[in-house]
Amino acid sequence: MTYAITQTCCSDATCVAVCPVNCIHPTPEERDFGSTEMLHIDPKTCIDCGACADACPVDAIFPVEDLPAAQREYGPVNAAYYEGREAGSVTAGPNFHAWGEPVFERVLPSDFAPVRVAVVGTGPAGMYAVEDLLLHTGAEVTLIDRLPVAGGLIRYGVAPDHPSTKKAQDVFARFHTHPRVRMHLGLEVGRDVTHRELAAHHDAVVYAVGAGGDRRLSVPGEDLPGSLSARTFVAWYNAHPEVAPDTVDLSSERVVVVGNGNVALDAARVLVSDPDALTGSDIAAHALDALRASPVREVVVLGRRGPGEAAYTRSELLALTHLPGVDLVVDDHDPRTGAAVDAAAPGDKAAVLRGVRREAVDWSSAPPPGRRIVFRFHSEAVEARGEGRVRSVRVTGGPGDPEIPTGLLLRAVGYRGLPVAGLPFDEATCTVPHEGGRVTGELGTYVVGWIKRGPSGGIGANRTCAAETVTTLLADAVAGLLPTPEHGAKAFHRLARRRNRHLVDARGLARIDREELSRGLREGRPRVKLATVPELVAAGQGRARAAR
Ligand code: NAP
Repeated sequence: MTYAITQTCCSDATCVAVCPVNCIHPTPEERDFGSTEMLHIDPKTCIDCGACADACPVDAIFPVEDLPAAQREYGPVNAAYYEGREAGSVTAGPNFHAWGEPVFERVLPSDFAPVRVAVVGTGPAGMYAVEDLLLHTGAEVTLIDRLPVAGGLIRYGVAPDHPSTKKAQDVFARFHTHPRVRMHLGLEVGRDVTHRELAAHHDAVVYAVGAGGDRRLSVPGEDLPGSLSARTFVAWYNAHPEVAPDTVDLSSERVVVVGNGNVALDAARVLVSDPDALTGSDIAAHALDALRASPVREVVVLGRRGPGEAAYTRSELLALTHLPGVDLVVDDHDPRTGAAVDAAAPGDKAAVLRGVRREAVDWSSAPPPGRRIVFRFHSEAVEARGEGRVRSVRVTGGPGDPEIPTGLLLRAVGYRGLPVAGLPFDEATCTVPHEGGRVTGELGTYVVGWIKRGPSGGIGANRTCAAETVTTLLADAVAGLLPTPEHGAKAFHRLARRRNRHLVDARGLARIDREELSRGLREGRPRVKLATVPELVAAGQGRARAAR
């Protein structure tokens, strides 16, 4: 028996570090790391110890024999990665699984004094940085989030029907209550405290604020009611307190999603999933109600390029083929699509569409009965049309640049970083300029995650990103480059409380967690998320029961 890595692989390489026979690749030191969509276990070398499965933060690793039907393909997928990489291959070097020379990228002097670091953002990027600092140094951490609850994109970005991926939060939650961590949730840098104030109370400040904006399509009608960014839609179904329950109108039978990334697939899947199946997830109560009442039965996913170039991962596409009660269809409007699917090699993502029905979709008709997702490649949205709200989307491609009737257009064309008050900003890349994580021209200030490298890569990509930033920060500390803070930690905690009386700390976060779980228990759901700032603050401050 051997183990296999499956769909939810987050590629953070925790498994690589615990494998006693080095049979999981690519490792962070190898060239493929960061460009392959997942990591793979070599069945010929695996000794079946299960250490990787125990360590995996997202429950993605199983014995091959125990794989459920929808994941069975991952046995061969893992094995296929090693074909052609046997001993002597150019890619692999003389012995693929041999241990390389140990590399010590960080050597801290024995008298290295603990640094006091503020980390702004409690999503995966910030938490990987916190984990690194706490596990490898005696650092004291002030952990800040502008929302009165922790989690960032794990709480508000990961789709509710991906509970394994959300488990990464359990790993991070261990550090919320760490004795060297002090949390201020609900504190906004730029509103409640300035960057200068934060810097004046800490040796270093790390910004892990993600990408809070959206790329635009730049087509007429984009701002009509009924046209939303997928970021807003995702935040809506995840009960983000800044997106009101009535933000999304699901009254049409068809939704058009522009973009071919994993966010587009998340949105499409949630829209056509059986709402009864979503009851077992932590989807927002308002979204569940809206989906139950909604006539949506067709989602059109528009990709401007072909099925071989789509940005979504193969595993997420493959998962769609197992979605109960949902048909997949490829719009056969352009001969390049079918040709690419037919010519795709078995491991290519386009090959997943090989068994999928192709048809020339007649957009003048209402969607047929049943729920389905239609992939339309080589097609761009050029205009959203409608009096007062979106009624159709005109798209390119045959026959004759058709108009697709719809009441909801979701723009899933990528996130966009927003400027951070007090820091430089590169308008072209929408990131904060940096060298190895150190903000350019700002000694003692660092960035990690999407605000550092742009809005791509899943949760695990932040682990190596955080390691780079923390390495730079520690090297600066050793070199004596960190500015000396003017005030102590206690002074900052007093300042934070003076500026915002509604802050939630680690104990408050645990109260929110208990409140959401108990609401879930009452409603037969795993969790019912609190969906407004006042509710979160009340629960965090122990006032939720009184408020009910
Ligand atoms: P993404 O992967 O960058 O995909 C963006 C998509 O938008 C691409 O298909 C891109 O097409 C398209 N696009 C961009 N501008 C366009 C335009 N003007 N017109 C038409 N199409 C346009 O971004 P994302 O989907 O927001 O995902 C962000 C990151 O989060 C990704 O790394 C993703 O894998 C990750 N994520 C992972 C999961 C998961 O693992 N389940 C879930 C959600 C997100 P081109 O390729 O042609 O540029």
